[in-house]
Amino acid sequence: MSNAIYVGIDLGGTAIKVGICDQSGKLLHTYEGPTGPRENGEEIAARMEQYVRKLVADTSYSMDQVSGVGAGIPGFLDTATGVVISSPNIPGFKNFPLKDILEAKLQKTVMINNDANVAALGEAWGGAGKGISDLVCYTLGTGVGGGIIIGGKILTGFTGMAGELGHMQLIPDIEAIACGCGHKGCLETVSSATGVIRMAKEAIERGEQTELSMVNDIQAKDVFDAAKAGDETALRIVHRAALYLGKSMAMLSIVVNPQRFILGGGMSKAGDILFQPIYEAYEKYSLPTSRQNVDIVPALLGNDAGVVGAAGLIISS
Ligand SMILES: [Zn+2]
Repeated sequence: MSNAIYVGIDLGGTAIKVGICDQSGKLLHTYEGPTGPRENGEEIAARMEQYVRKLVADTSYSMDQVSGVGAGIPGFLDTATGVVISSPNIPGFKNFPLKDILEAKLQKTVMINNDANVAALGEAWGGAGKGISDLVCYTLGTGVGGGIIIGGKILTGFTGMAGELGHMQLIPDIEAIACGCGHKGCLETVSSATGVIRMAKEAIERGEQTELSMVNDIQAKDVFDAAKAGDETALRIVHRAALYLGKSMAMLSIVVNPQRFILGGGMSKAGDILFQPIYEAYEKYSLPTSRQNVDIVPALLGNDAGVVGAAGLIISS
């Protein structure tokens, strides 16, 4: 097939983004339309078909050139059968055979995977991990998401639960607080934007002298900005978030030995103030043989990682 193209679908709670990639993982065209949060699987699949057909029709490509369609879905999936088991933000999307239904509608091969895994694959195929086959991608946002790519493929594990990096229980019991998953001391309780904001608020409540006490409605960015300006409380918080991220990377190095760690999500824009202490912790806790020539870099694709990675499911399968 000449000029083969790959289509990706990134399902979110409020929007469905679709995109066309070329064989090198370059995103050529995108289209975005709404998701109805109360819709069921049939209605969501119908929107996906409609958006994909519109996307392709609005370009110089034809559906004949589409090699396959991938979809990144937030929630629990059976990736082998292509069934969406449940999606917390889209309650009507339940026990739905998305792969089979979309294949019938589009007459193309369809692959589905979890949205965090797909974003990692996007960075591996067309972003900060281009040309690298073994990497781990963290998304630092409200929580800590992740995806592990080994040999160019998503590591899904036995029940698709591999790569839930935010729920590694790394925080010592004496400092551990409850996580949304039901356990205590998970990485994301400290190293997410939510964790950073919480630590800042606690420091202010303790009466620490910090310029953060002057800020209304503290965001993670305020903490990083204060740290850059030399605020000791902010620096301590950033170092704590970085310590556990670096420690988690040291453990992953021992288990899967990636060549690169990629950090995405809002917090990854903080720059050296975050990356430097992460690297120091990683260096301190990893084995020299497993960290040789390994680097830690920011993600490149931003919000496009999902749609690029979804298209990449077809090529990496
Ligand atoms: Zn957890």
